[in-house]
Amino acid sequence: LERLRGKLSRSRSAFGQGLLGLLGAGDLDEDSWTDVEDTLLLADLGAAVTDQVVTNLRERIASRGVRTSDDARALLREVLIEALHPELDRNVHALPHSGKPAVVLVVGVNGVGKTTTTGKLARVLVADGRTVLLGAADTFRAAAADQLETWGSRVGAATVRGAEGADPASVAFEAVKQGVAKGVDTVLVDTAGRLHTKTGLMDELGKVKRVVEKQAEVDEVLLVLDATTGQNGLTQARVFADVVDVTGIVLTKLDGTAKGGIVFQVQRELGVPVKLVGLGEGADHLAPFEPAAFVDALLG
Ligand code: GDP
Repeated sequence: LERLRGKLSRSRSAFGQGLLGLLGAGDLDEDSWTDVEDTLLLADLGAAVTDQVVTNLRERIASRGVRTSDDARALLREVLIEALHPELDRNVHALPHSGKPAVVLVVGVNGVGKTTTTGKLARVLVADGRTVLLGAADTFRAAAADQLETWGSRVGAATVRGAEGADPASVAFEAVKQGVAKGVDTVLVDTAGRLHTKTGLMDELGKVKRVVEKQAEVDEVLLVLDATTGQNGLTQARVFADVVDVTGIVLTKLDGTAKGGIVFQVQRELGVPVKLVGLGEGADHLAPFEPAAFVDALLG
């Protein structure tokens, strides 16, 4: 928790401290409630979640007779955690079945941290005792395959790659084929996130998924989003969610933003849980997302 606190310091001062300051002992006039709303909106919670949080807070403060700032803080904590739906399954499903590897597709637009996340996730799985094979199907960005291979050799995972500009689906196919042949536990496929047009993306990702499914089940489609991009990230997320069945969200660069509230909004928009968060560029800067720990770090 201490580490998470440090990493979220920018969101904490903008959001947590601001809110706690406004909330005081919970006895607020209309102007102060408007300020609470503005703070939530500024932190990128979005209109719908902001509404829900403010309504719940007002109701509960009224019905429970909040007297001290500690009471108010406890209620705020409760309402924020609820808004993050702690009941959702946030496990990354990456265990083999019927003798075949689990397959995880990592999708998202260029620059969001897809390759880095794939490398960090490989590290987590290897540390957990699994064998991992990496598929460098981001054949669009020239350096992506080298970058992934570097991660692979660091963490102890082999990488399957194609020629630059090769068909991403053919690389994904080859990676899963080798994964099956070698009996590895998990194949992580780093895809090319070319958001040129929606149909282009659909053709490309759809094809990757189809060729993979000829050999093994796709267990997870993790959508990587850059938390610093705010509404742009949300727009991207909607397009991806229309094109593939996203099973989990990875929110990267939470360390660099005061808008950590995007977590709330993106989950609500996509109806898919945030499963992992990126908290820096380092190998161990990928953490499972835990609503209560996240809210505690925000509230400081
Ligand atoms: P890709 O094009 O989506 O594969 O993006 P990359 O994996 O190459 O990442 C783009 C940049 O973002 C790199 O400089 C990464 O080190 C950086 N990056 C990725 N994840 C995080 C994160 O969680 N926090 C920070 N601060 N930087 C990150």
